[in-house]
Amino acid sequence: MADRKEASIKKIAAIKTMRKLMAGHFYELDRAVKEGYPKIAWCTSVGPAELLRAMGFLVYFPENHGAMLGATRMATETIPAANAIGYSPDICSYLTSDIGAFVQGRTPLSDAYEGIESIPKPDVLVYNTNQCRDVQDWFAWYGHHWSRPVIGVESYRNVGEVTDVHVAGIAGQLKALVPTLESITGEKLDMDRLREAVRLSRECSDLWKAVLETAAAKPAPLTFFDSTIHMAPAVVMRGTQAAIDYYNELLPELNTRVAEGVAAVEGERQRLYWEGMPVWGRLRDLATQFLELGTAVVASTYANSWIFTALDEQEPFESMARAYTELFIVRSDPYKEAYIEEMIDTFSVDGIIFHEAKTCPNNTNCLHGMHLRLHERLGVPSIIIPGDLSDLRCYSDEQARTQIEAFVEQLDGQSRRQAMATPA
Ligand code: SF4
Repeated sequence: MADRKEASIKKIAAIKTMRKLMAGHFYELDRAVKEGYPKIAWCTSVGPAELLRAMGFLVYFPENHGAMLGATRMATETIPAANAIGYSPDICSYLTSDIGAFVQGRTPLSDAYEGIESIPKPDVLVYNTNQCRDVQDWFAWYGHHWSRPVIGVESYRNVGEVTDVHVAGIAGQLKALVPTLESITGEKLDMDRLREAVRLSRECSDLWKAVLETAAAKPAPLTFFDSTIHMAPAVVMRGTQAAIDYYNELLPELNTRVAEGVAAVEGERQRLYWEGMPVWGRLRDLATQFLELGTAVVASTYANSWIFTALDEQEPFESMARAYTELFIVRSDPYKEAYIEEMIDTFSVDGIIFHEAKTCPNNTNCLHGMHLRLHERLGVPSIIIPGDLSDLRCYSDEQARTQIEAFVEQLDGQSRRQAMATPA
């Protein structure tokens, strides 16, 4: 049996600032709905947020709302309402929980922020299918409901090397969005504002990358579970100064932890990589179990997905196109495997947890043998945890707990054998 420690999750002080920021974000959107200005654009997580901000829209991200529905476990009650109007329980549970909540007239925003009664009604919905087709269907439902335009980018998938052909194709589609957006705002696109939004987005991305890289230190000052919380400004505020200011507060706090040897997980013994979506409704339980096992989940593909190193204000459309196509989820398996290999080295990873999210095959990478190929090539052990991002009917607490415990025991045994084989 693996050693158990008394678990206590160490709070990151910057969380107070983040809570204020997030409240400001949602109240600003709510005010815009009530006052009819500024216009509101819905955007998929790696849709053209920079373009929308440059054109004066407030930007709302329904996937963030999906994550809130999952984290509050409200999703379990709202998904059936979407199933009842024809959406399969097997498709994206962000989509089903979000549409189901709307049908039921509910939102976790009302519980979190007094006075907010609904998600913000859009003036336009802008998608990018770089992650999946579900987002297009999702936006189409709301576009039809409110008679609002739904426009977007149809992306490449399974991309190996990102070439100029890919970049030109996506940049062309991004430029083609502009006339519709101009007709909604009544103003012409100002290229200087677009360059500025891209510059701010890149700066936010660089800071977020630096935050995540602090976990390369031993012991790691933050875990994957911390990052799922602190990523919020990078997700919903990229392209704004507020997000940059936030990471300029968080990063020094983490650097201080590194300098002082403060561990997110006391007595850190094993270091893991989380591949796939979070289980939003079980973040605390999982974080606590890993703490008890002296195991830090130090890196993840998910949190890294908001790192956009290709953004370049000198070439706003082309660099947005490149950044949106370089995204992990868009890439081929050989690229993904090379990427994970690099993460294993950078973060000194002992093992990988693949989360097989039932309703998101798009962001589940163990369905076509990747876990076995990585094990064969690198000798890194892994487990597959069946579950889901938001639909807890697909997740067994007991099974996950037992699997994780057995996996850490296996890693501990391996470490002991290695220690004994190493001459003093
Ligand atoms: S990537 Fe997965 S979780 Fe995200 S919107 Fe698509 S299906 Fe849903």
